[in-house]
Amino acid sequence: MKWLPMLLALLCTICFVPVCANSQTPQKPDRQVAITIDDLPAGMADRLPAADITAMTTKLLGTLRDQKIPVVGFVNEKKLYKTGEVDERIKALQMWLDAGFELGNHTFSHASLNQVGLKAWEDEVIQGESVTRMLLAQRKMKLRYFRHPYLDTGRDLLTRREAEAFLVARGYRIAPITLDGWDWMFAGLYEDAKKRNDAALQQQIVKEYLAYHDAVFAYSEQLSAKVVGYEPKQILLLHASNLEADHIGELLDVLRKRGYRFIPLEDALGDQAYSLPDTYVGEEGTGWIDHWAITQGKIPQGAPPFPQWVIDRTKELHLSTGTVTPPTDPY
Ligand SMILES: [Zn+2]
Repeated sequence: MKWLPMLLALLCTICFVPVCANSQTPQKPDRQVAITIDDLPAGMADRLPAADITAMTTKLLGTLRDQKIPVVGFVNEKKLYKTGEVDERIKALQMWLDAGFELGNHTFSHASLNQVGLKAWEDEVIQGESVTRMLLAQRKMKLRYFRHPYLDTGRDLLTRREAEAFLVARGYRIAPITLDGWDWMFAGLYEDAKKRNDAALQQQIVKEYLAYHDAVFAYSEQLSAKVVGYEPKQILLLHASNLEADHIGELLDVLRKRGYRFIPLEDALGDQAYSLPDTYVGEEGTGWIDHWAITQGKIPQGAPPFPQWVIDRTKELHLSTGTVTPPTDPY
């Protein structure tokens, strides 16, 4: 009975080839993310000399430009004012525009709306505009984005709405965030390890920073589906640091592996998710998926825990350098 195996082989070919073809090319999700980088010219601008800020900026922008990633950087102009270094620090900001990126306002001195009160915070917004607005105007660009320091958007709804109206009246669009892997926590430790030439620790920090971001991305995607009903065009919060200058390329690969492509902030903000009802108020700033969840009466759960050893090593570092308390988060 030679025909039976032949028939089976024929049936298998007919039935299974399409199945095999499908399983070989699984559909990758089409995800989109806008990259934003805060605390320009550098998160640790008070500790880094201007030459180091220039070197860090050169490296960071080199990767972003080579990979054609659209980015908006958010400035704290107070970080420009260090005796003898003002020109070079302003030049570091100019480098962002020269590379084709955009700059936004992050207040003059990284002031929290929840801490300083509405009037003082409004003054901070205005004071934070001078140099950035001038640099943008030289390129016929407008200052149009604002990012809340610490993501603090107000402790009560009246303050929140008044602050928003103030920003709109000055021509700003608020830049929310939906993805946040607390890179600034890793960046502080990395900076110290780099200064001490501790290559093993640097490697350990980078590995953890990439793994934690991957876990945060997965969590945020799931939370998005539950809260928004789909995964909106996401907005990632990062900070200008040597960690990002040295390793942002690997982080972008983590995003690519998850199916992300990189889009301008303007495109991301076109997603209808950013018009969802949002009445979040609180002592602690947080991301916008949390805002929407809490507005809907849902409590976000299951966020990946931040690696404890990074917290512990950071505390040790600040104790050994004479700082009694660990640093407040420089969101
Ligand atoms: Zn910040």
